[in-house]
Amino acid sequence: MNLVDVHCHLNHKLFKDDIDTVIQRAKDVGVKTIIISGTNTQSNKQVLELAKKDPVLNVSLGIHPIDALGLSEGDTGIPTQSKPIDLEQEFAFIEKNKDTILAIGEVGMDFHWDKDHHTEQAVIFTKICQFAVRINKPIIVHAWEAEEECLDILEKEIHGEIPVILHCFGGRKALITRGKDLGYYFTVPPSILKSSNFETLVKKVDIQKLLTETDAPWQSPFKDTRNEPAFVTKTVQKIADIKGISTEEVAEQIWKNYQKVFLSHLTKHT
Ligand SMILES: [Zn+2]
Repeated sequence: MNLVDVHCHLNHKLFKDDIDTVIQRAKDVGVKTIIISGTNTQSNKQVLELAKKDPVLNVSLGIHPIDALGLSEGDTGIPTQSKPIDLEQEFAFIEKNKDTILAIGEVGMDFHWDKDHHTEQAVIFTKICQFAVRINKPIIVHAWEAEEECLDILEKEIHGEIPVILHCFGGRKALITRGKDLGYYFTVPPSILKSSNFETLVKKVDIQKLLTETDAPWQSPFKDTRNEPAFVTKTVQKIADIKGISTEEVAEQIWKNYQKVFLSHLTKHT
């Protein structure tokens, strides 16, 4: 089986001591690609460096909405950003690395952690969408409690030029339908084992539009346990149960989706 984890944070300090074992465990269960995601100036550099470790590792570079504003607080386990990101400077850095990365992410809007700067978040996310279109890369979107607002901006800025991947989308049914109608992809994390929300999403979205991710170390399938890329097997199993098809069929289709979204795009540089 070819399995994929299109979004995780292996640069998190929880992986500091056993990253090699974690990568090996993923490979042992059939994971063929793991996209590690940057979130700010420092972590973008970190994931590029980390990806040199093993060919299974790929990179998406991003500007997390909270980091963009310089609002990250306390110890999250990944590098935080205490002053606003200079967007043009970060865009230049990402563009310089565009041939080594598979996507732009994670980016988006987060009204859960920030209640006070919604307009600023929207302005920044709009610029990021325009940038992703300009450099012709798929975009991996974080839309926590800002699902509708993210869809509004995506619909306005992206007209099928690049694939849109909605990561851990928590929007209500009508918003899932809207994302579907716009032709977007949805990722499913292993925490689907604990979440009826993701079950609803899998029921509603065609398998041709689903991808697997872990968001490791977060979104674990188990209580109080660190998540890791090998756990995509849990997601694949659960999708198979919901869709009433075999795990092999699920894995095969998601592998095809991965190739279509992230690899076929590589040949279409502007
Ligand atoms: Zn993430």
